Amino acid sequence: MKFTQPAAAREINRLRVLNLLAHVKESSRSDIARKLRLNKPSTSEIVEQLLKDGWVIETGKRETTTGRRPVSIALVADASLVLGVDMGSRNTSIAISDLKGNILRYERFPTTAHPEVKELCSNVIRVIRKMSKLATSPILGVVVALDGVISEDKQTLIRRDHWNWDDIPLAAIIERNTNLPIKLVNNVEAMVFAERWVALEEEVNFFMVNWGEHIKSAWIYKNTITSGDTQFGHLMVRSTGLCRCGKIGCLESVAAGWALSERHEGKTVKQLCQEPNESCKKDLRQAAEAMGMALVAASAITGCNKIILGGGLANLDKEYIEYLKSFYREHSNRETIPIVCSDLGEKQTLLGSISIALDSWMFKSSLLEMMQEQEK
Ligand SMILES: [Zn+2]
Repeated sequence: MKFTQPAAAREINRLRVLNLLAHVKESSRSDIARKLRLNKPSTSEIVEQLLKDGWVIETGKRETTTGRRPVSIALVADASLVLGVDMGSRNTSIAISDLKGNILRYERFPTTAHPEVKELCSNVIRVIRKMSKLATSPILGVVVALDGVISEDKQTLIRRDHWNWDDIPLAAIIERNTNLPIKLVNNVEAMVFAERWVALEEEVNFFMVNWGEHIKSAWIYKNTITSGDTQFGHLMVRSTGLCRCGKIGCLESVAAGWALSERHEGKTVKQLCQEPNESCKKDLRQAAEAMGMALVAASAITGCNKIILGGGLANLDKEYIEYLKSFYREHSNRETIPIVCSDLGEKQTLLGSISIALDSWMFKSSLLEMMQEQEK
């Protein structure tokens, strides 16, 4: 892909300026030109157009001892907004965010055990409508993250395990009722986005695990994410124990949130961690060990340089995470690979949806990154 035409080059530089301003409080025209290696006239031309379109503002002249300080340019954070949705197994969260990723409104409601399409969608639509009504700027679009296989055009949910949702035109259903552009995304992919664009993860070869009610993974290698139909949670780690998938000894049957709560009167993992009872502790240690074992395999197969744990169980007490790490170090011959828990907590997927929405409809950062990679 070569962008040699002047219009395309101008559009790319316009996006680069917006991306730069998204990550700083303000910047002068000459700083922008220097950082992006653009010449001053084209920088000024781009900035003038952005000012005219209302995406940026000038933040005033200030006198200094050495004379006049140049006028700074800042992104107008609320010039447009985006919405993110995390349709999780236990809860559904929805948030509206400005262009800087600041959450302006947030709402969460429990997801029922086996929700009907109509039931869950109408709840989501109701919140989206409410948030749009309160919004004071245009909404660019909505990204909906869920645990499932998504069609290439990001409009259809091909399969969602455990809910029996197959071939659902989910984007069209929500779009029809909100009049907003909708994009579907696999939830682990959203988590990866959150790590890269919110937590600013720089590693280009890492393995991401969503360790929650179910266990899913994604492998990120440069700009390629492999996720969707992978079955990390059903990697065999034992010779006994029936899994929900019908097979024996899967990682999920030992370490998934559903398996742990099934064994302990339906208590959530959070509740289990707070319980001092010995059988809980034993089960959590076994879960940590099984995850360690699966990660030994994942690391050996992918050759990843880092493993990031997200999801509810990544917030387990330190003692279990330490136990997992020591199991990994003992059994992997790639023992120096760091295993870390995401800092983003329970909003990780939601933040990922928001980042993908900002990327899709505003900043196109992943496209710019891919082009930069190709130029190398
Ligand atoms: Zn299984």
